[in-house]
Parts: sequence; C-alpha cells; structure tokens
Amino acid sequence: MRGGRMPIAIARAGLLKLFLHNCGETKKMYSTLLLLSEQQQQVLNAISNGQSVFITGSAGTGKTFLLQQAIEVLRQIHKPSRVFVTASTGVAACALTGQTIHSFAGIGLGLGSQRQLFCRASKYAESNWENADALVIDEVSMISGELFDKLDYIARNIRRSSKPWGGLQLVVTGDFFQLPPIIKPSFFSSYPTKEFAFEAKCWSKSFDLQVELTRVFRQSDTQFVNLLQGIRRGHIDNDLVNILHQCKKKPVKYSSVEAPRLYPRNQDVRRVNEERLRKLGGEIVEYRAVDTGKEPWKSQLKHGIVPDELQICLGARVMLIKNIDVKVGLVNGAVGTVIGFVESECRILEAISSTGVLPKVKFDYGEEKVMEVETWHVMKGVKVCATREQVPLILAWALSVHKCQGMTLDVLHTNLSRAFGCGMVYVALSRVRSLEGLHLSGFDSSKIKANPKVLEFYQRQFG
Ligand code: ADP
Ligand code: MG
Repeated sequence: MRGGRMPIAIARAGLLKLFLHNCGETKKMYSTLLLLSEQQQQVLNAISNGQSVFITGSAGTGKTFLLQQAIEVLRQIHKPSRVFVTASTGVAACALTGQTIHSFAGIGLGLGSQRQLFCRASKYAESNWENADALVIDEVSMISGELFDKLDYIARNIRRSSKPWGGLQLVVTGDFFQLPPIIKPSFFSSYPTKEFAFEAKCWSKSFDLQVELTRVFRQSDTQFVNLLQGIRRGHIDNDLVNILHQCKKKPVKYSSVEAPRLYPRNQDVRRVNEERLRKLGGEIVEYRAVDTGKEPWKSQLKHGIVPDELQICLGARVMLIKNIDVKVGLVNGAVGTVIGFVESECRILEAISSTGVLPKVKFDYGEEKVMEVETWHVMKGVKVCATREQVPLILAWALSVHKCQGMTLDVLHTNLSRAFGCGMVYVALSRVRSLEGLHLSGFDSSKIKANPKVLEFYQRQFG
C-alpha cells in the first residue's frame, strides 16, 4: 500500500455491483444499468481501497467507462473537491468533464526542464497540487515518459513528500498501442528520449496495481475482435488482410445515410467538410461559441471538440458531441442529417447566432431532435473555471483519427493508405462496432504498425 492509507471496507457491495451508466455527466444520471465485468469490479475495489492503479486494455474494453465509476468512488472516499479529473487531450478531458493534465499541472505546453516546469507549476497551480488527494488521467498513451517524470517531480516538490507523486492516489488509463504523444517537428531538438509514459523512471513506483482489461465491449463479433487484436499488435497475416480487402469491395451506400470518413490528417478533414458543405449550396447558418471564465482555462475550450464556429445548412451531415439522452441513443458520436431549422426564444442563442434558429437533426437510427444550446465546463476539482455554450454538433462527412480516439461509431468510412506512425490503423478501425459498419476505400497493410517498445512493455508487464 502506498500513501499509508487504511483499506476502506467495501461495505457498499450493492453499489459496486450495479452502477448507473452516467456517461461522464455529473448532473444527469441515466437509467441505463450496466453490469461491471468481474475484472472491472476488481479494479474498482482496489481503487476504493486507496490503491494507485494503471488500467490498460484494447480499445473498447471499457477503460473510460470504468474510470467514470472510479471517479464516483474516489469522490466518496476523498472529498469531491480533492479529486482532479484530467486527460492528455482536450477532447478526452471534455468527455470526462475534466481538464487537460497540462492545465491541472500549470505547465503550459509542458516544455522546459523539470526545474522550470516546477517553478511554473508553483506559480500557476500550486493549490491544485496541494489540494489533490486523487488524480485521474485518461488517454495516457499521449503523455511522454519525460513529462510523466516531470509531473511526479512537481508533485513531490510542491507537496513536500518523497512518496511517488507526493502520496496522491493516481488512477491512470490508456492503451499504449493507440496513438503516441504528438511531438511537434519544431521541438525536435528536445525530442524526448523517454517517448512513452511507461518508460518514465517513476512509472512502476507510481502504481500499486497495473491491470490489462481483456473483455472487449465495443465489438461483439469474435472474428472482428480477433482481427483488431492482431492489428493492435502489428500482426499482418493473409487471412486478416483478406478480410480487410473484402471491406474495400463493399458497396458504400450514399443514399440517405452516409458514413463519416476518418482521415489521418487534419487538413483533409477540413477540406472535405468544407467542400461538401459548399456543394450542398444551402443557406449557411453560423453558430459562434460563447465562452466565460479566465485563462488558462478558457483557452482549453478551444482545444476540445466543441467548435469555435459551426457552419451548417440543410442537408449537412453532423455528429452529436455530447451525451444528451443515452436511453434514446442521443449519445456522443451519433451521426445524422440537418433536416430543418426551428425558431427559438432561447436567450443564449441570441449571442451564439444572429439567425435565432436551432437545427433539427434526423439521426441515422431514426430519432429526430431539435438541438438546443448546450454547456461545457472546464472543472478544477468541483469548481467550474470556464464554460462554453454552443450547439452540440460538428460536421461529420470527415473526422480525424486523432479526434476519434475514444469514440464509438456504428458506421465508418475510411481510407488508411496515408496512415502514419504506430497505432493509427488500429485506432481508426477499432472505433466501429462491427465489420458490417466498416467501409474501407484504401488500405495498405504495411501501415499496420505496433511500436516494438510497446510490445515489449506489454509482454513484460502482462505476459
Ligand atoms: P475504452 O475507453 O476502453 O476504449 P469505453 O469505456 O469507451 O472503452 O467503452 C466502450 C463501449 O463499451 C462503450 O459504449 C461502453 O459504454 C461499453 N461498456 C464498457 N464497459 C461495459 C460493461 N461493463 N458492460 C456493458 N458495456 C460496457
Ligand atoms: Mg477511452
């Protein structure tokens, strides 16, 4: 046991068995009851005993889902205001109603020596580090080993404790076979020698328990699950390549329902969405996000998935970017078409759009819904530091693989012949629930790549 915490008896067995699937929303609780797997339950028990845990596993094994339950448990065993929820990217942080690890830590872009970052953190985020009893980090694969060590250094120094992370309870999730940290070419001079967080000096000391979740929930077809497992580890065998080539031949229905296209590169995403919007030729309705709060919280909103500006027109393909009502399928990632605009008296709408109308969307699975203005929060513990109000949609003819990490999609169209780096083919393909939903227009099996260091880590740690 780290941190000298006494184990907390798990007297709330009932609570631990059946969890409300709250989908990252702290205010709205939905009535969808999901049963935790035995393995997920064991991890939760360890967390409720005060242990620091690293949770990994393939895409769709319920890491983020489990994290949402873990956050509830952490808020019960510590004070809610002493539990800090973070992720490596704005998009992932948004999904958990948290903040980026950079903004929590007060380290700006995270560049500089550990001493420099410590000084910066002491100035901007000392109270975060001092007041935290538990720190949650999602999508850790995008945090470098160097940064992970620097964060541990900052924690120990600000909290004046020699224990790993200054004795705070750490709950970290992610899959290192997915996207690695983005290292900007202009910073190549300081290319980290420790690329992955598991290469950090403090890594093993940081956790009491490291677990690989093994049951995949996102996909149920065994053939597809096995195929994805192979791609995750960079295996290219003929059967696998044949299955993917069959997906290439499948006709794509462009009638009423069009699958979003995933592109490895952002410029392609923007270009395709803009082209398709102009091609429709309809009258463009623009929505500009309204933000409140102070820096640096406010600028985090710009790096999340909620657009500064949303331009749509009749017939535009859109994706919902918030869980509105899980029971009826109005969830993050649901795709549909704008079928009209409806006048609204909503006060905040005046500031967002001069038109005074809200879009009506027909989702592909059948539901029709007028999209109201929604609010996103940047939270520091339980304190709201910044908010963004916007219509919860993005254009969905094209999406980037990076933005999609973490999402679940029913149908997906992609061309992976220009995939780059390790893990990208795996992240793209593992978003979709079934092979039926996968349309592959380009594919190059040489782009299936797993990093040898990652393979070695998993072999060593999980066998
Ligand atoms: P990951 O973060 O590992 O990629 P997610 O947490 O996004 O996976 O989960 C993928 C999908 O599986 C989600 O739709 C989630 O609701 C579902 N899921 C996760 N855990 C369970 C469970 N115990 N029972 C049923 N569905 C689950
Ligand atoms: Mg996830």
